Amino acid sequence: MRVLKFGGSSVGSAERVDKVIAILQNRYTRKQVKFVVVFSAFQGVTDKLIEIGKLAFQRKHNYKAELEKLIDSHYETVFKLNPVKKHPSAADELEPLFDELKEVIHGVYLVKELSARTLDYIVSFGERLSCTIINFTMQNRGMSPEYLDASRLIKTDDSFGNARVDFKSTNKNIVNHFKKHKRLQVITGFISSTVQNEITTLGRGGSDYTASIFGAALNADLIEIWTDVDGILTADPRKVKNAFPLPSVTYEEAMELSHFGAKVIYPPTMLPALQKKIKIVIKNTFNPDFEGTDIAVKEKDSRFTVKGISSIDDISLVRVQGGGMIGVTGIAARLFGVLAEHNVNIILITQASSEHSICLAIPPKLGALSKKVIEEEFRLEMLDGKIGEVKVENDLSVIAVVGEHMRHTPGISGKVFQALGKNKINIIAIAQGSSELNISLVIEKNNLSKALNILHKAVIKN
Ligand code: ADP
Ligand code: ASP
Ligand code: MG
Repeated sequence: MRVLKFGGSSVGSAERVDKVIAILQNRYTRKQVKFVVVFSAFQGVTDKLIEIGKLAFQRKHNYKAELEKLIDSHYETVFKLNPVKKHPSAADELEPLFDELKEVIHGVYLVKELSARTLDYIVSFGERLSCTIINFTMQNRGMSPEYLDASRLIKTDDSFGNARVDFKSTNKNIVNHFKKHKRLQVITGFISSTVQNEITTLGRGGSDYTASIFGAALNADLIEIWTDVDGILTADPRKVKNAFPLPSVTYEEAMELSHFGAKVIYPPTMLPALQKKIKIVIKNTFNPDFEGTDIAVKEKDSRFTVKGISSIDDISLVRVQGGGMIGVTGIAARLFGVLAEHNVNIILITQASSEHSICLAIPPKLGALSKKVIEEEFRLEMLDGKIGEVKVENDLSVIAVVGEHMRHTPGISGKVFQALGKNKINIIAIAQGSSELNISLVIEKNNLSKALNILHKAVIKN
């Protein structure tokens, strides 16, 4: 059994859905390869739903027109994909969903409330609509699919927007469901629910994770992530012209590359697959015969010392420093503790061995909050002059140079620093995990594009 997943970019229009269904028929149904298939919302729909929710919340009257446009675009897709005589039954299937969506958006407008809980409920319509439409279309193409709302099976805590999966109940639910349902399951990506059956989501890009959760629960032979590029590339192709697809990467490399910005796969996706040692393949919907990239324990090709370079374009650096920090135990623990308490996601940490300062890279929108809570935590030390004012520097980016073989290859950091130095790009902070899988650099944002291209040329050999 295989778990396939097609992202929003693969289902951006009726023509693209056609292509996907042809791939499913030609490569799987006709060859009697057993599979289930996860879909994301149609391209751009999740963003649009968030925008409409916000418009209603701000009492902007155009929310209604925007909502109508979104509804029309779904009708247009399903009508294009199916013969005219099927249009009334397509409308019958979709209308209840649109009524429910209109009701919740109108509710937001009336009560002027848009909590993370409500937003998750609103965005869940993206995947519910795309899967309803694709399921309906497959039925009319001689397939016998069945719509599966995965939010019924994937159970999470109530961290709306980025919920944590309870694998024990989720795995049990999935296994039980598949004992009773033998038809091809068309599964909604991204959405899940709490014990109280409130809709949650797995984080932006989370449909990849849905595929891996199902893959692990069902002991799949393979998880295939179908997207709009030839696999995991050595860098983001929108930023580095010479980026090229890698034949294979390890789970850890994929995790590092995606954690540091390679959007092609959502970082948590690797965990359930790794636990069961299930291979993930990244394939291109628009170039289906290309082999793509394997994510597995063993590499197909160990030619590459550095596998890739990725970046988080916008970060802030929080600098905590002071003579009073030297040799004092517990400072770092308190610092990370207070940030964790306020849900500040730390992207990178560096501490000079003098212990005089600690730098943390964080998302820019959390800069002011971080400064405030750190200064509160260290109020007494600041009064004594042991710790100085907490500084937040903005307009910075992080670049990560990733590869497992770097740990056995001396001189990679040297090449990295030399290439940047020669081009007068200043490195503001450096971090290297003890696993030596990743060298991370903080630089000024306006140097990002130049730095990525220079590094790609300096350390990645095709
Ligand atoms: P999907 O809609 O299929 O989930 P995404 O937009 O989430 O697709 O991810 C695919 C995109 O990720 C590609 O179009 C590409 O622009 C971007 N990307 C960023 N970094 C990389 C990388 N290292 N390799 C491949 N794609 C990357
Ligand atoms: N539709 C969701 C998003 O846009 C999930 C996904 O595409 O993976 O984030
Ligand atoms: Mg994605």
